Amino acid sequence: MTELLSNYVAGRWQAGSGAGTPLFDPVLGTELVRVDAGGLDLGEAFSFARETGGAALRALTYKQRAGLLGAIVKVLQAHRDTYYEIATANSGTVKNDSAVDIDGGIFTLGQYAKWGDALGDVHALRDGDAVKLGKEPLFQSQHLQVPTRGVALFINAFNFPSWGLWEKAAPALLSGVPVIVKPATATAWLTQRMVRDVVEAGVLPAGALSVVCGSSAGLMDQLQGFDVVSFTGSADTGAVIRSHAAVAQRSVRVNIEADSLNSALLLPDATAYSEAFKLLVREVVREMTVKSGQKCTAIRRILVPAALYDAAAEAIGAKLAGVTVGNPRNESVRMGSLVSKAQLNAVREGLDALKAQAAVLYDGSQARLVDADPAVAACIGPVLLGARDADAAQVVHDVEVFGPVSTLLPYRDLDHAIALAHRGQGSLVTSLYGADEAALGRAAVQLAASHGRVHVITPEVAQAHTGHGNVMPHSLHGGPGRAGGGAELAGLRALDFYHRRAAVQAAPGVLGQLGLAQA
Ligand code: NAP
Repeated sequence: MTELLSNYVAGRWQAGSGAGTPLFDPVLGTELVRVDAGGLDLGEAFSFARETGGAALRALTYKQRAGLLGAIVKVLQAHRDTYYEIATANSGTVKNDSAVDIDGGIFTLGQYAKWGDALGDVHALRDGDAVKLGKEPLFQSQHLQVPTRGVALFINAFNFPSWGLWEKAAPALLSGVPVIVKPATATAWLTQRMVRDVVEAGVLPAGALSVVCGSSAGLMDQLQGFDVVSFTGSADTGAVIRSHAAVAQRSVRVNIEADSLNSALLLPDATAYSEAFKLLVREVVREMTVKSGQKCTAIRRILVPAALYDAAAEAIGAKLAGVTVGNPRNESVRMGSLVSKAQLNAVREGLDALKAQAAVLYDGSQARLVDADPAVAACIGPVLLGARDADAAQVVHDVEVFGPVSTLLPYRDLDHAIALAHRGQGSLVTSLYGADEAALGRAAVQLAASHGRVHVITPEVAQAHTGHGNVMPHSLHGGPGRAGGGAELAGLRALDFYHRRAAVQAAPGVLGQLGLAQA
């Protein structure tokens, strides 16, 4: 029997009462560890976090809590090698792809430590300036933000066991709100290990950070009016969360990051020899292959001028042909595996659905695997699809295949391209490639209505840009509509979710005593 990972709740490590659900190496097929959350006293877990953890965190100032984030960074950095080993074994990712998750999480924590430090030694945040409520300045209204007196429950997706925890925990802990994380079962090991290291280092107050590994059963039932829940995963589970009584009846604040049909758009003035064309091709190939396309921000639809459809298909296909797929332990492998056999099956099913309305332009799905047994490993090479009639291919705008799959779509003019991008019904990110600054600026504003982030690549930023799919803590992560309607990160704006806004109406002398920092 493999090790049964413990849960950390109510300030104690507690084993689940069941035999546990096994986690696997998706390349070798071997069992790694097991998780189980059966028999936990969830009522005790939530009240301990809410009361003990919340009180201890709120007793600190923003600057002190920023110091806690800095201390977490040091703990995680000291154990980085172990995290890479777990990621290789449990997520099947090559080193560069593990870095996106592990170092991406540490970087995000570090950023919030810096931003939080600048907030200073205060316990509440100023929200705008005071305004007078009458003709005279005698009686005024000042909005402020105070930490919510609840717990933050995170229900996370399998593709980012590290970043998914820390990109949420950094603003929550900085806000003074305790965290209970429930990682996706398939990759819960890395999340659990990171929490274990932080707990063992003793850098956080008791109750500030808890982890429940295994079933989500009963977690939502524990939520009360001042708690918040932040969910990342499929639209279907998102709908279950949204309709739970905690949200529907008890007004628990909810953030949902769901699936997204992100696009990349080459502007009409490009030629097959232009820098913009090359930049698009490079980014598409990177987005299709990083983490085997298991990124919520990956490019799923590639919009190019109709005249460049064939050239784009050829250029992207040629680069994809150079991508080696297989065991991430082999240095020659560029792309590792999907997270599980179940995901491999889901990708194959999704490909079949897309193929009903799209042609195969490059097929890496049958390519030879390096150091991996195709009967066992959850590996699949990249597949580029294409639909010459982008309007008619509805399935391409509907079905997110969570793997190394993208579809090329030709457009007539820029208005048509923008209309096609909007067909994603709300996405996390779109990227634009061109050299005409005025046209790019206009398109960016039009696309902002349906995208949380618009990433514009001109030749001058070829080396400087941060990547279509890379989520930087400085910028908004989240998209309207189908993408879940969530809003994460965006610097200190992320603190909004963990705060309550109130207006204090009083004389200026009283307002001067609120001890506020500018948010
Ligand atoms: P999922 O099946 O919806 O699972 C997500 C999480 O919800 C897991 O922790 C899962 O636990 C839990 N869960 C499942 N059923 C639940 C229920 N009834 N109540 C409460 N929690 C429940 O999603 P997934 O397939 O793991 O994730 C892939 C999807 O996530 C993709 O569609 C991707 O686009 C999306 N995603 C979005 C973002 C973003 O930031 N927008 C980021 C990453 C991924 P178990 O694992 O134990 O079942």
